[in-house]
Formats: sequence, structure tokens, C-alpha cells
Amino acid sequence: MENSLVMTGGGENANKRDTICIFGTGDFGRSLGMRLLKSGYPVVYGSRDARNSTLLPSGAQVFSHVEALNTSKIIFLAVHRENYDFISALSDQLDGKVLVDVSNNLKVNQYPESNAQYLSQLVPKAKVVKGFNTVSAWALQSGNFDASSQVFVCGDDNQSKQLVMDVARSIGLTPLDQRSLLAAEEIENYPLQLFPMWRLPFRITAGLTVFFFIYCVVIDIIYPYAKENNDFSYKLAISVPNRVFPNVSLILLSLVYLPGVIAAFIQLHRGTKYKRFPDWLDRWMLCRKQLGLVALACAFLHVLYTFVLPTRYSVRWRWINSLIEESKKNKTMQISKVLSWRLDLYFALGILGFALYILLGITSLPSVSNNVNWREFRFVQSKLGYVTLLLCTAHAAVYGWDRFLQSKRYRWGLPQAYMLGMVIPCTVLVLKLILITPCVDKMITRIRQGWERVPKDEKVQTFVNKSSLV
Ligand code: NAP
Repeated sequence: MENSLVMTGGGENANKRDTICIFGTGDFGRSLGMRLLKSGYPVVYGSRDARNSTLLPSGAQVFSHVEALNTSKIIFLAVHRENYDFISALSDQLDGKVLVDVSNNLKVNQYPESNAQYLSQLVPKAKVVKGFNTVSAWALQSGNFDASSQVFVCGDDNQSKQLVMDVARSIGLTPLDQRSLLAAEEIENYPLQLFPMWRLPFRITAGLTVFFFIYCVVIDIIYPYAKENNDFSYKLAISVPNRVFPNVSLILLSLVYLPGVIAAFIQLHRGTKYKRFPDWLDRWMLCRKQLGLVALACAFLHVLYTFVLPTRYSVRWRWINSLIEESKKNKTMQISKVLSWRLDLYFALGILGFALYILLGITSLPSVSNNVNWREFRFVQSKLGYVTLLLCTAHAAVYGWDRFLQSKRYRWGLPQAYMLGMVIPCTVLVLKLILITPCVDKMITRIRQGWERVPKDEKVQTFVNKSSLV
């Protein structure tokens, strides 16, 4: 090892652990080496140029590839797939060694086979293990793993996989066994995903927001301008958003519960729980948590907008004007008990609904949901969830009160936005009401406990079989 460079200052307990070899002195290799050294592993780098080592963590040694791999049983390959060619020449020396592929690609399914499978074709004698690709160089350096502390590991040789998982564990990561090397393709795609579960909720939210915004602009701004030449364009800033967000929030909340209701009706219709739901329903069910969290964000915006309503210039101007009118006429308006009840009820339902909304949001956080049992989680997310939906729908209904009966409210024949916003929530509540009636509930419970209704054609078959026996 003449061309080796020995860096100074090894860890105190460096001798206690097996030496780890890292091929590649780039960002990832250096960060991984630093973390391994901190955890007491002696680290040896294999590099194309052993002298090019000034940035390496102190305590590490750097050799040529061949020399480095002789020092260790485990070799981390911190090199991009495009540069794997050099490894074929080391095929014999890598016989029986554990070769960890940490690589990522730039695009999903960029190559016909995963990088790890490609590597195992280049060096068939080595035991290739895929892992560590979901951890960033920055996280390794800072030790701040946060959401990326999970390391997905796969490989065809169980012992090698265990060795790599032990290394992961000892540097503070959480290894998750993903079984054979076939899983590498999926593991390599993980870091390339961008909010996969949030895409559908964001699209639905954007669609609903744009729809309600345009709808409210037509009804509240364009209509008065076209009919009475009144310019209410200032409503674009607060009034219109404060109509858009509660409607979007209420619809999103109902969309959290609608797939469950649809699933129950499908099971009732099929008479079994052992048939797969359609793909679209599966996908919808999987993003219910995200739908709920976006719904909560919209409800929060509605609360904020509502708080600033009385401070607005236009509102204050109307109050002062009505006071002046009253004093001019020397007449005081009598309190309307109905209006007082209506507003108090409206706010009370809103406050209670929002409080439960927050509770639903908090219990959906992993740190909280991990600390409640399945029954408690279901109680909050399902039972309290429906109560929240009921309170928020009632909040919207009290807001509308008897407006739906007044023909002047239908500008250009269009219903008001809150009426549209209540269609899906009311549908969900009515369907749920049907599902909790004792006879339907009994049937759905039986189905969910494994009972199956015998299909008609099978019944006929059974009858024919029995008759033939007689
Ligand atoms: P990098 O900074 O470009 O380092 C790559 C290293 O590969 C170089 O420093 C070089 O080391 C070696 N190399 C370059 N060309 C080579 C060739 N033709 N033949 C042999 N070795 C060559 O890249 P990186 O960010 O460290 O990433 C390394 C691997 O880790 C990649 O597969 C990447 O996908 C994966 N990864 C990176 C991160 C991250 O946050 N950076 C996170 C997860 C996974 P020598 O000069 O010492 O030979």
C-alpha cells in the first residue's frame, strides 16, 4: 500500500468495529465516511487518485480501489451508475464481498434494470445489497435525519443484508428490509417521487378553488355591475376568498368520507368483502389523510378571513351610514331575535366544527396516531369526523338560512355558492345515515366479519347438485 495516504486523528474506539470501505470520494462518500467514523468504524476510501484526499474526513485512509477493498468485507459504492465500468475489472477481488449500491437516478425508471441489478451483472461474484440511497449527503453530515432516517435495504443474500442493516442501525438510521434485489427498482424510485400522496388532493383543491372563485366573481361582482352598474370589485380581496375557502374546505372534508361510504355500498351490493375495490377508489382512499389536511388548511383560512371582516373599511362605512340614517330619522332599530339566534348559532356551529377539525388534524399526525390504539384512532377519525362534517354542514346551512327560498338570490338563475358547497356533504351525510340504520349496519358488519352472500348462479348450482343427489 505504498500509494496510500493516512489521515490523522482516528476515532477513540476505531478498533472496536470492522473496517468499512467506500469507493468514491465525492459528496456522498465523504459524508457517509464522516458519519461512520463518528460511530467508531475505521473508514478506508478507494479512489481513482489516492492523493486527491484533502477534503476527506480526518481519520479516514485512502487507497487505490484494489488496495482499499482488501481491507474490508463491506464496500459502499458511492459512484454514479454511469461510472460503474471500472468495477468489472475488480470482479475477482470482489468475490464474496458485500457491495452496497447507494446510487440514485435522475428519472423514474431511467434504465431497463435497476442500478443494483446492473451492478450485480457487472460483478456476479459480489453480494450486491441496495440501500442508503434515500439518505442525503447533507443529512449524513449534519446527523439531522428527520424524515429520511428510514433506509430501505434489499438484496438476495440475507447475511449480507443483515450486515448492511447493522451498519445503518449503528449510525442512527432505521433499516427496513425490502427483501430481494428485485425491490431495488422501487427503492431507487423513492427519492424521485414528489409528494405522490398529495398530488390528487392538490389537484382537487386547485380545481374546486378555481371553480368557486370564478363562480363567486360572476355572482357577486359581475352580476351587480352588469345589472345595477355597482362596482364591487374590492370584494375580490376578502369577500370572494371568504366564500371560496369554506366551500372548498367543506367539500374536501366530505370527500374524505365519501370513499368509505361508496366502499360500504359496493360491499353491500357484492355481498362480500373479498373482492378488490376499483383502482380509483383504492387511490382515493389512500389519500384521505392528505385531503383532510388540505381541508383543515382551507377552514383555517376561512377563520382568518372571518376575523378581519369587521375591520374592513366597507363594513365600517355601512355601519356608520346606518347609524347616521337612524339618527336622522330619530328612530332606533329594534333587535331582531331571529337574526341574533341565527348569527349566534352560525358562529357556535363554526367554532365547534373548527375545534373538531383541529382535533382530526392533530390525530392524523404520526407522532399522535402512533400513541393511540386502533379503536381510539377510528373513534376520532370516523365518528368525530362525521360529527365535524355534520357541524360544518349545519354551519353552512344556518349561514344560508332561508335564502334558498328567495328568488332574488338566484342571480342569472344560479344558486348561491354555499348551496353548491353543501351538495356533496349532504349526500355523504344522507348515505351515512342509511348505512347506520340497524338493518343495513347489521348486514355491513356481517360482511366485514367475513360473511358472504351466495351469488344467485351459485345458489342455482347448489340446488341442482342437491336435486341430483336425491
Ligand atoms: P459525486 O460527488 O460526483 O462523487 C462521485 C465520485 O465517484 C467521485 O468523487 C469519484 O471519486 C467517483 N468517480 C467519478 N467518476 C468515476 C469514474 N469514471 N470511475 C470511478 N469512479 C469515479 O457524487 P455523489 O453525490 O457523492 O454521489 C455518489 C453516489 O451516491 C451516486 O450514485 C448518487 O446517486 C448516490 N447518492 C448521493 C446522494 C447525495 O446526497 N449526494 C444521496 C443518495 C445517494 P474518486 O475521485 O475518489 O474516484
